[in-house]
Amino acid sequence: MNYVIPAFTVPPGASALQTGRPVLSVVIPCHNEQEALMELHARLSAVLDTLSQPAEIIFVNDGSSDATLPILQSLRERDARVGLVNLSRNFGKEIATTAGLDHAQGQAVVVIDADLQDPPELIPELVKEWRNGADVVLARRRARAGEPWLKRISAAAFYRVIGRAGQAPIPRDVGDFRLMSRRVVEALGGLREQHRFMKGLFAWVGFPTSVVMYDRAPRHAGRSKWGYWKLWNLAIEGITSHTVMPLKVATYLGLLTALGAALYLLEVVVRTLMWGNPVAGYPSLMAVVLFLGSAQLVTLGVIGEYLGRVFNETKGRPLYLVERFLPSRGEPPSDDFMATRN
Ligand code: UDP
Ligand code: MG
Repeated sequence: MNYVIPAFTVPPGASALQTGRPVLSVVIPCHNEQEALMELHARLSAVLDTLSQPAEIIFVNDGSSDATLPILQSLRERDARVGLVNLSRNFGKEIATTAGLDHAQGQAVVVIDADLQDPPELIPELVKEWRNGADVVLARRRARAGEPWLKRISAAAFYRVIGRAGQAPIPRDVGDFRLMSRRVVEALGGLREQHRFMKGLFAWVGFPTSVVMYDRAPRHAGRSKWGYWKLWNLAIEGITSHTVMPLKVATYLGLLTALGAALYLLEVVVRTLMWGNPVAGYPSLMAVVLFLGSAQLVTLGVIGEYLGRVFNETKGRPLYLVERFLPSRGEPPSDDFMATRN
């Protein structure tokens, strides 16, 4: 807890930028990131200084148990651009990000990790794409430097499974590092479900999207909060909150069993009729067991279908989001028309 806060100076232009509402907000979820914060802030404010728009940095302290909170507080005292959302406990990255998005005021909002794996120097490029009309600018990683092969393989498998199962395709190799326009942030803000799989939510809202490539650096300091167990759970969370596919498994398993049972029954009956069966009761027993098994599976599947509907309804999502509406302009009254009326 005796972490020393290094000396720090506010860049001269910073306060002059602080006029009116920020155009750009940078949201940073932080959980036990004491080692990375000073460097992150230094690099980030250097980048923000080069932009000619007023910007703000919203740090979300997600129940850190190290010196993250005092460091953030002192950053806020020294830099007028810094805002701080301190959550009451650890809610997890997804909810911390949502809290940051709710408090961001900018016309464009960038979400970035605190650990400097996402280079802040990419932000001007994201902003440029946004200026060119994109509502969502994704930063796609070119290389997964410093990540073990098991993590790379499991990530690939995950994107494959969820890509097949969900309706809104989830782009590969993009994390939460991205820029979103105000209307996308507002659309996301309308999705208040408890089980928040951000990648799924980002994909669900849609809107014109463009992609910027970058090289993902290894973690600057500290270690990833995502062990394999946590990643596995995140994958389960992602699949179960983004799709109802697992609920359909029983239906298809049941239908498959029923088909197999029917074929097998036919065989047993034909064989018994032609040659008789030495084991008394065996054909009828098999028939009953297989029939009941498949009937149960199908029934479970039916329950699953209804459960899936309840699940989707309880999320209370808007039915759709409109990217733009171009109303009809109406027919200008022509001279002929006016003439026939008079
Ligand atoms: N994080 C958070 N709450 C948590 C876990 C992580 O806010 O419970 C933040 C963390 O401080 C970092 C970001 O989420 O800024 C990504 O975390 P991490 O680097 O551990 O994940 P990875 O880069 O391995 O996906
Ligand atoms: Mg990280």
